[in-house]
Amino acid sequence: MRILTGLQPSGKLHIGNYFGAVQPAVELQDQGDAFYFLADYHAMTSMTDAVTLRANVQDLAIDFLACGLDPEKATIFRQSDIPEVNELAWILSTVCPMGLLERCTSYKDKVAKGISANHALFAYPALMAADILLYDANIVPVGKDQKQHVEVTRDLAQKINDKFGEGTLTVPEVQIRENTAVVPGIDGQKMSKSYGNTIPLSGGKKAIRKTIMRIVTDSTAVEDPKATEGSNIIALYKLFADEAALNQMIAEHEAGGFGYGHFKQTLFDAYWEHFSAIREKREELENNLDYVNGVIAKGAERARAESTKVLDRVRKAVGLR
Ligand code: ATP
Ligand code: MG
Repeated sequence: MRILTGLQPSGKLHIGNYFGAVQPAVELQDQGDAFYFLADYHAMTSMTDAVTLRANVQDLAIDFLACGLDPEKATIFRQSDIPEVNELAWILSTVCPMGLLERCTSYKDKVAKGISANHALFAYPALMAADILLYDANIVPVGKDQKQHVEVTRDLAQKINDKFGEGTLTVPEVQIRENTAVVPGIDGQKMSKSYGNTIPLSGGKKAIRKTIMRIVTDSTAVEDPKATEGSNIIALYKLFADEAALNQMIAEHEAGGFGYGHFKQTLFDAYWEHFSAIREKREELENNLDYVNGVIAKGAERARAESTKVLDRVRKAVGLR
C-alpha cells in the first residue's frame, strides 16, 4: 500500500496542518510505503518571493523531521526535484474539463480572500492530481479542504484509464480524520497559512501566547456563563486535552465566573506542553542542516525511481515518446 501526502511551504506549519495531515502521516509511515513531499510548486500559487520560498522549504523539512516523519521509513522529497510532475499535470489537463476546476471551492475561497487568481491557482488540482498519480498512491491522508481535490484526482485517473487503458493510472482513496478534518483558525475560519489566522507549530513563547490571546470570542461578561457550542477555544483545546481536562473547561464555561483570557491561558499551556518535544527536536535539526538537506537529496533519488516508472507507462499509453 502506498501512502502519499504533501504540504505547501507557503508559510510556517500550523496546528491545523499538524493535526490534519502531519500526525496521520507519522502514524501511516508504519503501515505502508509512504511518500511525503514539500509542495514548492504549489506554494508558488500564493507567494512570489524566491528567498522566502527557499527558506520555507528548509523550514518545512525541519518540521517534517521534528514531528516524527522518519526518512528510514518514508520517502521525504521536494516536489520540484521531480519536475516531470509537470508533464503528467499537462497530460491530465488534456482530459480535465474546465467545469471540474471551476467547481473547486478551495480556489473560490482563496480568490474570495483576495489572493490573486492566476492560472496556476486555478489549475492547482491538476498538478495535485499529478503529484498523487505519479507515485501510484493508494491512500492520501489530508484535511477536509483537500477532499474535493482528491476527488478530482480520482476523476482524472479514471478518465485516463477509460481513454488509454485500464491500469494506466492508479485510482487513489482519500483518508480524512473526522475529528481533525477542519481545525479552525483564530478567527474561526479554516486555519490556513495564506489566511493569516494560524497558530504556528514553532515560535517563541511570547509570540504564540499573544496569538492565542487574539482568538476571536464573543463579548460575554466574565461573570456570565459562556456558550460552548461553536466555541473556537474549545474546538482548539479538544486537540490537546484529555477528557477530564476538556470536561473541566466545558464546566467552567457553563458555570460563569471565568473570563476568556483564563480559557486562552489554559489552551496556551496545553499547546506549549504538547509541542515541547517537537520544539526540542526542531532546535537540534536547525543546527544540523546538512543532515536535513541530505534527507531531501536522498528522497529525490527514491522519488525519481518511482516517478520514472509511472511516467514511462503513461507516455507509452498516451502516444508520447
Ligand atoms: P495554504 O493557505 O497556502 O493553502 P494551508 O494552511 O491550507 O496553506 P496546505 O499546505 O494547503 O496548508 O495543506 C497541507 C495539509 O494540511 C493538507 O492535507 C490540508 O488538508 C491540511 N490542512 C490545512 N489546513 C487545515 C486545517 N485547518 N485543518 C485540518 N487540516 C488542514
Ligand atoms: Mg491549503
